[in-house]
Amino acid sequence: MSNFLKAEESPFDYIKIKPDDESHIDIKNRKTCLKACENKPCTYYCPTRVFAWDEESNQIKVSYTRCIECLACPYGCPHNNIEWHFPKGGYGVNYSDQEDLS
Ligand code: SF4
Ligand code: SF4
Repeated sequence: MSNFLKAEESPFDYIKIKPDDESHIDIKNRKTCLKACENKPCTYYCPTRVFAWDEESNQIKVSYTRCIECLACPYGCPHNNIEWHFPKGGYGVNYSDQEDLS
């Protein structure tokens, strides 16, 4: 992400996402986020900011339609609290060449 930020670019400039109607990302236990995860690293290591802490509901909000399938989150969560699988066939991110994205 840092290279994208330095160049003032966005990963979304290079991909196309066809979002599934169901989330392919789930939080296994929301109490763990609230009670045991002090720094909530998912809210800053995800390159497209899929995870955000919602102050009103006191839980992680998951904007799964922003996921670029980098696969960092299942490994980056210190509590193994993120369930992740690929979106259903035909949905999700397309990393084709730029010309194919128009
Ligand atoms: S890193 Fe894991 S445990 Fe911490 S807030 Fe995110 S999902 Fe919850
Ligand atoms: S797979 Fe990557 S882009 Fe998708 S939610 Fe996880 S960290 Fe974010």
